[in-house]
Amino acid sequence: MGQKVKKIAVMTSGGDSPGMNAAIRSVVRAAAYYRTECIGIYRGYQGMIEGDFTPMSARSVNNIIHKGGTILKSARSKEFMTKEGRAKAYENLKEEGIEGLVIIGGDGSFTGGVVFNSEYNFPVIGIPGTIDNDIYGTSHTLGYDTALNTAMEAIDKIRDTASSHNRLFFVEVMGRDAGFIALNTGVGAGAEEILIPEEDLGLERMLESLKKSRRSGKSSSIVVVAEGDKSGKNVYQLADYVEENMPEYEVRVSVLGHMQRGGSPTCFDRVLASRLGVRAVELLIDGKSNVMVGLKDNEVVSTDLEKAIKGQNSIDKELLRVSDIMTT
Ligand code: ATP
Repeated sequence: MGQKVKKIAVMTSGGDSPGMNAAIRSVVRAAAYYRTECIGIYRGYQGMIEGDFTPMSARSVNNIIHKGGTILKSARSKEFMTKEGRAKAYENLKEEGIEGLVIIGGDGSFTGGVVFNSEYNFPVIGIPGTIDNDIYGTSHTLGYDTALNTAMEAIDKIRDTASSHNRLFFVEVMGRDAGFIALNTGVGAGAEEILIPEEDLGLERMLESLKKSRRSGKSSSIVVVAEGDKSGKNVYQLADYVEENMPEYEVRVSVLGHMQRGGSPTCFDRVLASRLGVRAVELLIDGKSNVMVGLKDNEVVSTDLEKAIKGQNSIDKELLRVSDIMTT
């Protein structure tokens, strides 16, 4: 490998997700393996603007693979949206002798990277880190698998109490624009109904289906709702609507919220982070830029960053069909 870049930086940006630490560790260790200096940037683009840097060695990432959150902290930076902010960031990188950047984050963070590259021709490589799994060019984003398992385990626990009290529970999971978490956790936890932004089930149909499952002998039910569901009602309004129409049920709401972002990453996310981190460093030191590394058919692949930002992952039709059959 003809090494074109001798000093790189890594940062986490946007919303945090489990597996970000494992990815930092992988980037730092891969850089050490290729005898490339690596700098950690705290608080994403804001830390870049403020020159909040720390040198990282293979030993500085000991004992973090299993930790949620991100040791480099994450942030959203309004200042980086301005030309002046990006100019300061560039000066800091130049002064430190950094020649390439690994961005672990979501599509907003990648957009920042593309803009920065277009202005300063600065090499950037993206690693998709978000629990929503809404980034084109990878079957899995970092943290998604952990979030699925966290949400599923929470729903399992809610089911215990639902079945003890003949209750109907609406459980809201994360996913403003994408129903991947809701669909998968709903199927995995055996939910009676799953409401996702990609499909408008219709309130009448939902009610009919809940009545049907009541008639078939079910005394408790779980409805998993993605936060971005298109019914036009939030999860509390949905619960009120069902309670009015099915007075035989006691209806309760549980919003899982930020707990889904935390926790120790699953083995899948740790392995994914390790694979993506190595490939990101290899691409960067080989002089590549403006690509995101991801997973496709269990192979590590790269996708043009702009495509990754603009493209959309579509919901798995086969899983929707399975879900319909399971909720019969
Ligand atoms: P999440 O999936 O959690 O939302 P994200 O990476 O999409 O993560 P954003 O808040 O959208 O998170 O973006 C993170 C940061 O990237 C922003 O705070 C900003 O600093 C930078 N950024 C986003 N869009 C742009 C842009 N058009 N130009 C410059 N910088 C940008």
